[in-house]
Formats: sequence, C-alpha cells, structure tokens
Amino acid sequence: MRCTGDIEVRDLEEVAINIDPIQAGGRLTADAMKAIIAYGDGYSVCDNCRKPFRLDHIKKPPLDAFHHDLARFVGMDEARVMPGARRGFQAVADTYVEKGSPVLLTALSHYTEFLAIEAAGGVPREIPKDAKNIITADAAASRIEDVTREFGRPPALLFIDHFDYQFGNEHQVREIARAARAYDVKVMYNGAYTVGIMPVDGKELGVDFVVGSGHKSMASPAPSGLLATTKEHAQELFRTTQAKGDITGRAFGVKEVELLGCTLMGATIMGMMASFPHVRERVNRWEEELANGKIVIDALRSIEGTAILSEYPRKHTLTRVDTRKSFDRVAESHKKRGYFFTSALSEKGIGGVIPGATRVWKFNTYGLTKQQAEYLASAFTGIARENGIPVS
Ligand SMILES: *Cc1c(COP(=O)(O)O)cnc(C)c1O
Repeated sequence: MRCTGDIEVRDLEEVAINIDPIQAGGRLTADAMKAIIAYGDGYSVCDNCRKPFRLDHIKKPPLDAFHHDLARFVGMDEARVMPGARRGFQAVADTYVEKGSPVLLTALSHYTEFLAIEAAGGVPREIPKDAKNIITADAAASRIEDVTREFGRPPALLFIDHFDYQFGNEHQVREIARAARAYDVKVMYNGAYTVGIMPVDGKELGVDFVVGSGHKSMASPAPSGLLATTKEHAQELFRTTQAKGDITGRAFGVKEVELLGCTLMGATIMGMMASFPHVRERVNRWEEELANGKIVIDALRSIEGTAILSEYPRKHTLTRVDTRKSFDRVAESHKKRGYFFTSALSEKGIGGVIPGATRVWKFNTYGLTKQQAEYLASAFTGIARENGIPVS
C-alpha cells in the first residue's frame, strides 16, 4: 500500500509490537492524529495570531494556556515549545556559554548535548560514570573542581540526563543539582526519557532548566519538545530582540532571540497539545509501566546466559541487555546467522530491534499493555527454547 508515488504506508505500529527504544513514548494518540490532519497546513495556528504576534500568546487555538500548562507540568515557571530537546539544549548553551567556556556533561550524555555545546563555542568536559554506570553527585562535584582548576573558572553549565539513553539508568539528579548549586553552576535537566512518561518536577529537583522531547516521550510528532525554566532565568533565556534595521529603523517587538521568534507553528504544536491531556494522565501510571516491563525483564533473565546490563531492579522501561552467551551462541551456527533472532521476533509480530542484533541491544516496553508484555516475554523465552537455550 502506498500513500502516493513511491511513499509507502508505514504500518509498523499496526502490525507489530514495537519495542524500539526511541519510538515507544512518541507514538501518537488518536487525538494527536486528528489534530495534525486539521492543522497540517504550514502556518495553520496563525489564523488568529494577534498582537503581540507570538506563538505563546495565541488564544485560538489556546496555545497561551498550553504554554502555562507545560510549565506547570514540569514544575517550572515558564515554558516554550521547541523543535526537539536538542533545540532546547542549544538555546540554553547559546545563552550561557561563551567561546572557550567549559561545560560539564556526562560519560552517558546524548550526542546532541555535545553538539549544542560545540555550536556555542564551549568546551565539553565529562563527568565519569561509576562501576554501576551511574553518574553520582560525588563525581560531579569532583569534576566541577577539576574544571575550575583547569579553566580558572567554574563550568558555565552542567548537563545531566535524568535517565540516560544507553542503559536507562537513573542518575543522581537531585544530589547533583545540590552540589552544583554549592559551586554556583547552573543545571540543565535533560528529560528526553522522562518528561511525558513519568512525573517530573524541576523545582523540586532543584534544576535551572528542564528540557523534554515531544517526539521521544510526549506522544507528539517530530520535531517537538519543550524548554522550561524559572522566572529568574526566563529573563535571560527568553530575552526579546534588540535588533534594529539601520536603514528602515524596524524593530521586532517581543520576538525571542533563542527561539528565532516562533517555533512550532502547525501540526507539531497541535499534535503535542492534543496529546497533552493523555500525557498528563499517563505519567501517573509509571508504576504500571515498570510492572509490565518487569514481566519482560524476568523472562529475559530466565534465559540462560542472558544478562541485564542496566541497573536492576529496573526504574525505567528502556533496558540494555547482553545476549552474547545466549542468542549470539545460536547465531554462530544458525543458517540465518545473526538475523535468526530478529527474524524470529518479526515472525511473532515483534518489531523495533535492530536487524541482526544478537549481542548487546536495547528495547523499551513503554506503552505495552500487560497482555502485550506477557506476549513479548513468552516470545523471548519461546525463541530461546526453540533454539535449545535452557530457560529456568
Ligand atoms: C533522544 C534524546 C535526545 C534528543 O531528543 P530530540 O527531541 O530528538 O532532540 C536528547 N537526549 C537524550 C538523552 C535522548 O535520549
């Protein structure tokens, strides 16, 4: 089936249980699907844009109220929508990082944090992970001191991912924020894997900036996300333009520099807004998500030679697993070689694992029903048994 020409219909979510780590939290709600059709045209949210002509002031549709709701949702004072978490990092880095400024991130940081720092001319320095793949407050404090010695000034910012994308491990955000505050270092909270799937309260955590990803964790189309901060920092981060045309004398009112005026002007913000009531509810069901995840984790652990590389018990639905001594052993002699595993999963209606993966791979059970989690668990143990791997 085709949409048109050579554009194929995408039916992965309809035909399979998709456990792709990056896709689970971004799956649209039916309400978002309706909204993106209605607002698919270019600048469609601008029909009723009136003075002062800015996205977060539009009343119809109620984008102004949505911005307030977003700020409250993450426990901060002010929020803006951004085309992806990465553009949130960039706005923060552009505001606070000068050429040559050191910036701390971590040994598990996402590449987009490095790129945001690079674009601002900053110098990245990593906080190491400990033996259990956790970023601790002690390590953060010690690196703040190292950086201060090396550069003669403290880091301009400290980026911390609440849950990292490699292991889905929880890091010591609250304690790191407390340590950073003692050194007067601002903290940028990366909630790409939290905002929209579990409760997040930035002020309670003591961070200065909260970034979330709409398409990663808020059931929204790409590119979308949010950037939130305190009243105090909003003045700097969301500063308005001072530019003036030297010939025409034109000035541009309340347009915000880091946002280049307006950000999401159609399907993206409307998809995000239509999903928001569902998202606000679903974060309260995080414990259920973990319980469903546990069904799958326990099944994998029962397969001889299989190790969970993420912290255990799990505090997130994204998990890294090592099957080198189980499924990869089968791959050595199987006629399909390394493809036997993903091909067997696919035959059972499970998608989202990188084709050929049998060694170290990741999956995310977010959004599965209990029944689907049980089915997935039995699919893993079933494939093990079919291939002679003992299951206890
Ligand atoms: C996915 C991800 C990002 C990037 O998010 P975008 O919204 O696509 O920019 C950043 N950080 C982490 C930890 C991620 O997992």
